[in-house]
Amino acid sequence: MHEQAVTQRVLVIALEKAKEARANRVASINLVIGEMSSITDDCMQFYFDFLSQDSIASDAKLSFKRIPTQVGCRRCGHSFTLNNPPWKCPQCEQWDVEIQAGQELYIDSIHFRLHRLREYAGSPAKFWLS
Ligand SMILES: [Zn+2]
Repeated sequence: MHEQAVTQRVLVIALEKAKEARANRVASINLVIGEMSSITDDCMQFYFDFLSQDSIASDAKLSFKRIPTQVGCRRCGHSFTLNNPPWKCPQCEQWDVEIQAGQELYIDSIHFRLHRLREYAGSPAKFWLS
C-alpha cells in the first residue's frame, strides 16, 4: 500500500467533509488501520503535514487505531490472532483459514473546528481507503 496515495485520499475526504460541515479547520482525523495494511503512522503524518500545508487541515492531527490480525478456522471455527503467515489453525492443525480482521483501512471520524469543536460522524458508511 502506498502511503502517499492513501494520505492524499485522507486529505481530500477531510477537506470535502469540512466544506460540507462549513468548518473553519480540520482538527483531527481518526483512522482505523489493520495490522496487515503496511502503513506507518509517522510516515503518514509526515505526508499529511506536507500535503495539507496550504489547506485548512494543515495542523490536523492524525490518530491511529490498530486492529490486530484475526484469523478464523473454517474447519473447527477456532479464532486466533496471528500477525504473520503461515496461518495454520493451532487447534485442529488445518490450513483452511480465513482472515477476519486486520485488513482495515478507513477513516473512522473527523473532528472539525467551528466556533466550538464539532464532530463529524454523520455517515454510517466508513470512508474506505483501499
Ligand atoms: Zn481449526
